[in-house]
Amino acid sequence: LIAEAGLYTASDQIIILSPENVDSVLFNSSAALFVEFYATWCGHCVAFSPTWKNLARDIKEWKPAVDLAAIDCADESNRKVCTNFGIIGYPSLKFFPAYSSSESRGQVFRGFSRDVRGLRHYIINKLEMHNETWPPACPPLETASEAELDNFFQTNNVKLLALVFERKDSYVGREVTLDLLQYENIAVRRVLDTETSLVSKFGVTDFPSCYLYNSSGHISRLKVLSEARTFYSYALQRLPGVVRTGKPQIPITDLIKNSTLQEWRPFNKTRVYMSDLESALHYSLRVELSGHISISGDDLIALKKYINVLAKYFPGRPSVKSALKTVDSWLQQQKGVEIKYSDFRDVLDNTVQTSDAVLPEGVQWVGCQGSQAQFRGYPCAVWTLFHTLTVQAKEMSSPDPQEVLQAMRSYVSSFFGCRPCATHFESMAQESMDHVTTLSSAVLWLWSRHNRVNNRLAGELSEDPHFPKIQWPSPELCPSCHGLKKTGEHSWNQEDVLTFLRNYYSSARILTDYLQ
Ligand code: FAD
Repeated sequence: LIAEAGLYTASDQIIILSPENVDSVLFNSSAALFVEFYATWCGHCVAFSPTWKNLARDIKEWKPAVDLAAIDCADESNRKVCTNFGIIGYPSLKFFPAYSSSESRGQVFRGFSRDVRGLRHYIINKLEMHNETWPPACPPLETASEAELDNFFQTNNVKLLALVFERKDSYVGREVTLDLLQYENIAVRRVLDTETSLVSKFGVTDFPSCYLYNSSGHISRLKVLSEARTFYSYALQRLPGVVRTGKPQIPITDLIKNSTLQEWRPFNKTRVYMSDLESALHYSLRVELSGHISISGDDLIALKKYINVLAKYFPGRPSVKSALKTVDSWLQQQKGVEIKYSDFRDVLDNTVQTSDAVLPEGVQWVGCQGSQAQFRGYPCAVWTLFHTLTVQAKEMSSPDPQEVLQAMRSYVSSFFGCRPCATHFESMAQESMDHVTTLSSAVLWLWSRHNRVNNRLAGELSEDPHFPKIQWPSPELCPSCHGLKKTGEHSWNQEDVLTFLRNYYSSARILTDYLQ
């Protein structure tokens, strides 16, 4: 178990304040800060914490301009900080504009809404109140006029301007502007429906709607599934030429020429490949596990659970299934407190001599190929493997809805070489894995947690520029998975997501190209 004090962890993308970092985070920062002062024992704070976490995920792209922080005032070592800020009730929210001085006590936000949308709008209102201390990373949020557009491309170093036409009370344009602030070659501005000359120039009839305008004067409407923030931002971030700051898109062919990468295997980005699944098995059983000379205690239990779910649900070739079953029965017979990895390995490798059971040697990534050697590969295949197993368990009506998830949890905890990944995964598991009571919710739990990881890792150094981390599946891949609430907020149609996942990861659809 991970001992965590307070209501937030490092995975939540919220800065955790302490007496040591409070001054450097809040004062003279180039970003505005929005801080929650809470006490762990306060029920309202516990109830509010999911909203604060959801807000952090929702405005993750805004970070260079505005960030979220939290401090646990119930922790005695933080007491003085909370007293200095005049905190007497919890939760309290305070806004610190960019470049606040060390005298600042922050602006109290009273009667705040308990939903992400209301808090997001409040942040925008506060950002707009910056005058001479405008956060440098924050793009202009005001409405665009016809005069500004006339010489826009002379005064701005971008190739493309996206205009969100909307009514005065709408926040969509400003939200999309902030969602794109970490992207190059594009600027976003809002235009009000009252700006009649631009409305007629662009032929706008719907509010909101989004139009693209380029330096040669070409105008086109942005095609989206729904006229809403999430769909605009997603579509704009993926336009040709639009790249995340600091992540130039080098063509894959050039990368391959210049590196020692093996030959690129063309593949379909919307399909699962057996070669990735078998490579994951090889790597986990012959490489990752081999670091453990003897395996005992929780690790042995983890290994038994892992092999057991593989033997039951791995939708592989008969020879691979047979190898997994042989190893599983051998492991079940091991009643001692410890096994030697070398004995395990002998059973795995010797299966070939006793029957037609064999797990091919070596890795050959296909759908999990990265554009450079340090990207994708094994971790991609681990996700793919476990999504496939949760779907298989559902199709085969496993009696235990938690079986595959718990096997993944203990495998990751005992053996997954990426230790920070294991810590993050364990904290998600502790938070909610126990709530999974059906095979369908197990499939959806893994999907939604994987999306949380995608959200956290988007834009990180480990992200392959050719495979950006998105909330998956995209609107193109599964239109019916995406919906809209009455408020204009994006929502997932969980039933459609489940149907989609059951099809995407179904054994019948797995491609067998490139198998050895
Ligand atoms: P991956 O995220 O590996 O996804 C593989 C494929 O799964 C995608 O190509 C897509 O086809 C599909 N997919 C994407 N999202 C979903 C979804 N929500 N549901 C179903 N299918 C989906 N890296 C870190 O830097 N820090 C971490 O804390 C971290 N934690 C991890 C925890 C676990 C348990 C695992 C297995 C990996 C973790 N990683 C972490 C690695 C990281 O998540 C990626 O696996 C890695 O960066 C490779 O990314 P990728 O582009 O291949 O896509």
